[in-house]
Amino acid sequence: MVYQRDDRDENWLKQARVVCGMGTCLRRRYGAIIVKDNRHLSQGYCGAAGGEEDCLSKGYCKRQDLQIPSGERYELCESVHAENNSVINAAILGVSIKGGTLYLCGEESESKELADAIPCKMCARIIINATLEKVITRTSTGGINIYTLDDLRQIIRN
Ligand SMILES: [Zn+2]
Ligand SMILES: [Zn+2]
Repeated sequence: MVYQRDDRDENWLKQARVVCGMGTCLRRRYGAIIVKDNRHLSQGYCGAAGGEEDCLSKGYCKRQDLQIPSGERYELCESVHAENNSVINAAILGVSIKGGTLYLCGEESESKELADAIPCKMCARIIINATLEKVITRTSTGGINIYTLDDLRQIIRN
């Protein structure tokens, strides 16, 4: 019997995909997991601030309705991004994420098809200041992208 074992990146990206399912934005759903020494430290999904109405319960996402291009006007959506929430959750739990890796996965909310997961400028800044070491993402074609801190700085500057 042929048995193929997932490697570590594959394992954590699969788990990040599961977390996407908790997302509350009608446009896309994202999940993030922070890992260090192959241990799960924290996770977060893209969702509204606690106690606030999310895009799903409102029945619309302002960014989606106004067809805002990717990367712009994030304040119009109710959501705190998955990367940001995973860092916040680590702080709440009192877990040190210094030097950790953030795994990120995204999917279209309606079709559940994979979406390219690329940290936005705001999240790239947060990831750098959270002293994480790198970001590993799932691409829309099922591949893997690795973002070093230098790559994140390029996102911020572009
Ligand atoms: Zn939204
Ligand atoms: Zn973001």
